[in-house]
Amino acid sequence: MTEIVIGYIIVVLFGMCVGSFMNVLIYRIPKGEDFVRSHSHCMSCGHRLAWYDMFPVFSFLFLRGKCRYCGAKLSIQYPIIEAVNGALWGLCYYRYDLTVMGIVTAGLLSALVVIAVIDERTMEIPFGLNAFIFILAVIKVISEIAAVSVREGALHDFLYQTAGDEVDPILKFITIIGGNETGHYRSLVDALIDGEGITIAHILVTHIVGFVIVSGVMLIILLITKGRGIGGGDVKLMAAAGLFLGWKMIILSLFLGCIVGTVVHLIRMKVSGAGRKLAMGPYLALGIAFNALFGVDVIFAYVSALG
Ligand SMILES: [Zn+2]
Repeated sequence: MTEIVIGYIIVVLFGMCVGSFMNVLIYRIPKGEDFVRSHSHCMSCGHRLAWYDMFPVFSFLFLRGKCRYCGAKLSIQYPIIEAVNGALWGLCYYRYDLTVMGIVTAGLLSALVVIAVIDERTMEIPFGLNAFIFILAVIKVISEIAAVSVREGALHDFLYQTAGDEVDPILKFITIIGGNETGHYRSLVDALIDGEGITIAHILVTHIVGFVIVSGVMLIILLITKGRGIGGGDVKLMAAAGLFLGWKMIILSLFLGCIVGTVVHLIRMKVSGAGRKLAMGPYLALGIAFNALFGVDVIFAYVSALG
């Protein structure tokens, strides 16, 4: 029990530290600033910040939201992004444990948060973030293929030869890729263990169709409307996320994003008189994030409802 709690605390704290780096990305990418080497400064007085000024959430609470050096108010955005990312990583850990699936999903969720905030502010999605999601998607597809290869024999003998202990090496390998024994995650892994017919061809089709199915339609709309309806960044986001999630979940993501986006935007137009132009990124990101965490459940529920 204590081990489980400590596991969550470490994952959430680590997520909050990454959230702190995400704040740097959100601030610097749109300005074209170097986000790796230069130090963080107070945006009011320019004083260089020490590590203890930047400790996620806690520094903000301890300093009561003010700069230690000049007393200027710090943006509430910092602790919110850090807390949100910590919570998302905790959720990832709950769903996928410390697995390849869990790590790529955590990376995806963080990228989506940065994309959502930057797109909301600038109406643009930085290419580097979409490229990052694309790389995560490739890792995910490769790891799924590896999991299937284990069952189909390619990796099977190798694992049995290299395994030194009494644990079933096949089950262990598949567990590292994407599942946990506690059954939070119904997935490829369970399908493999249950012996359902998932093949390498099936995985490739799922993800490659996912890459083009939504992004392709959006690209056509973009070309027809000459970029007034949809941005190029949205198309690339749905391509990269489609490769990650596969075609079923990327379609679900689009529907969810459009429904939530329409409702929220209608309310905002009424309440604050927001313009007609809508940044789609935040809503697409929400749809993708939901499916990355719970899409499997939605599809399982749908399939079992059909009998
Ligand atoms: Zn200051």
